[in-house]
Amino acid sequence: MELSVILEYQDLDRKLMKLENELMGSDAAKEYAQNKHTVSTAQEQVVKQNRDAGEMIKQMNALIQEYESLEKELKEAEDSIPEVSDVNGADFFIRNVQKLLNQLKTLSQEIGKMSQRIVELNQNHAQSMAAGKDAAKKLNQSKAKYEEERAKILPEAQTVKEEISKVEAKCSPKFLEVYKRLRKQKRLPAVVPLMDGRSCGGCFMELAGDAIVKLNGQSFIECPDCGRILYKQ
Ligand SMILES: [Zn+2]
Repeated sequence: MELSVILEYQDLDRKLMKLENELMGSDAAKEYAQNKHTVSTAQEQVVKQNRDAGEMIKQMNALIQEYESLEKELKEAEDSIPEVSDVNGADFFIRNVQKLLNQLKTLSQEIGKMSQRIVELNQNHAQSMAAGKDAAKKLNQSKAKYEEERAKILPEAQTVKEEISKVEAKCSPKFLEVYKRLRKQKRLPAVVPLMDGRSCGGCFMELAGDAIVKLNGQSFIECPDCGRILYKQ
């Protein structure tokens, strides 16, 4: 492909980027992005809280089951009061009942703590839902402003895009692949000239002789250091 095509492509893309930067730098776009972020944070919180709630309810049910079976055990123990003459049996009976009572006490404390945690989680969940609703409302409002801002640059951007697609038809697939990758990485300018016959105009590293020989035979090479599209003036 011709060097002039490469440079024309870069010029047009610069125009497009300038328009995009104008839009992205506007207050409306910044507000829109901020609100999007707030909404997605609230969504993540709600999802996490729902998951936690499911887990806590499972734990709570297990605690209640354990409590009920201990209660049953205690009742059975209390029902089998030994004969007054059976000293060892009486001793075991007292220790067993005491042990079960202690276990029940510990368990009921755990249940109390767990229900406190569930109450707190419900409160946080309600807060997240309210914050999410508020943010979603703001997001809609700021989206409208952002669209207004976008509409201002849209006709010009459309024209430039059409010009770009015409030039793209004259570009090699390899060039487009490398250029688009550099653009995505924001390594700009993506297309740079060879300086002083041996240095990259992007990263200023000196090229090895074989890279320069290669560049003499084709319209561009990728800089071995920074990966930019390097051409010879
Ligand atoms: Zn370079």
